[in-house]
Amino acid sequence: MSLHLLRNAQVYAPESLGRQDVLVTHGKIAAIEPKIDWSSNVPVQEYDCNGAILCPGFVDSLTHITGGGGEGGFATRTPEMQLKDAVEGGVTTVTGALGTDATCRTHQELIAKVKALKEEGLSAYFYTGNYHFPVKTVTGDIQQDIMLLEECIGVGEIAIADHRGSQIGWRELAKVGSDARVAGMCSGKSGIVMVHVGSAARQIDDLFDVAQHSDLPLSQFYPTHMNRNPELFKAGLKFMAAGGTIDLTASTTPEIIASGEVSCAAALAQAIDAGADTSRITFSTDGHASLPVFNEQGELASLKVGSMRSLLEALQACVLKADLPLDIALTTVTTNPARVLGLKTKGKLCAGNDADLLLLSPDNLELQSVMAHGQWFMQNGTRVRQGHFE
Ligand code: ZN
Repeated sequence: MSLHLLRNAQVYAPESLGRQDVLVTHGKIAAIEPKIDWSSNVPVQEYDCNGAILCPGFVDSLTHITGGGGEGGFATRTPEMQLKDAVEGGVTTVTGALGTDATCRTHQELIAKVKALKEEGLSAYFYTGNYHFPVKTVTGDIQQDIMLLEECIGVGEIAIADHRGSQIGWRELAKVGSDARVAGMCSGKSGIVMVHVGSAARQIDDLFDVAQHSDLPLSQFYPTHMNRNPELFKAGLKFMAAGGTIDLTASTTPEIIASGEVSCAAALAQAIDAGADTSRITFSTDGHASLPVFNEQGELASLKVGSMRSLLEALQACVLKADLPLDIALTTVTTNPARVLGLKTKGKLCAGNDADLLLLSPDNLELQSVMAHGQWFMQNGTRVRQGHFE
């Protein structure tokens, strides 16, 4: 059935539109109106949302879809994601990346996984490169990767301020940024460079240096893990004020929070208090990454795995614990990442956009239902479409 009429939903597009009916045809949103009459003989599947919150499916700008890291030896290589990991987290668009390891993990494997997720019904993209410089690519060239490989939308994660990176400076970053920028312009893609920011004291100084010493704008770079510690988040607020967008990592553990990480909810609250432009903040899952904690000697103290449910949990924390407005909290996982990634039909509910949407309980924001490209993946808390091996 390719026609769906969702009735009686509280629509957050992500801005609040009040009670609406939503018509979905062939994977797209056809109309959002207070009352849609359907007198045609053409069969339509009607669904009463019963006042549930209807919002865009989450756009995750960083997931290690084939697994990432493995800083504790081969046995700690994190496993690849499955369709259910995204569905249970309300994520309908994923952006895959390699990470620390581009020796045993390859772009070929990454592209195969992107295509598998697309066949299973999600929207999936990837960044070429990994932590290191010179940037490892598929075709041997950043510009060719972005321009010629359909799902390649940028470069990342290039690591700075991290002992696992290639210890590069602003000149190397400017070179990567200009290659990605030109390829993005010529192919109508984002061409963004996602930058993994570690915990070293240099923080994002190299990115400010690129903007100061080259012709590239700060917005060419998209630094992630910017909630790693309070000082880094403060630098992130400066980056935003200068025209950039920062990404915060939603996956966390009590140990990581105890070691000084700023939770997504606390960071967004600070940004709002500081009068910052919240359209310049995104949350990503860093799903299936290793979440290593290093001790003061630089030794690995513990290692956990990033979760794709973390965006939903961060959204719930923003609204239910930090008392932030739902529409603003939603932008960090919908319109904001879609804009940075150049995904024009994602992250916003309006006629013509992809029918990627979620239903959330109004009282506790629990995930009830998930639709991607006009197909139900979860209804009333039960997954109704499985991945090949699930
Ligand atoms: Zn990273």
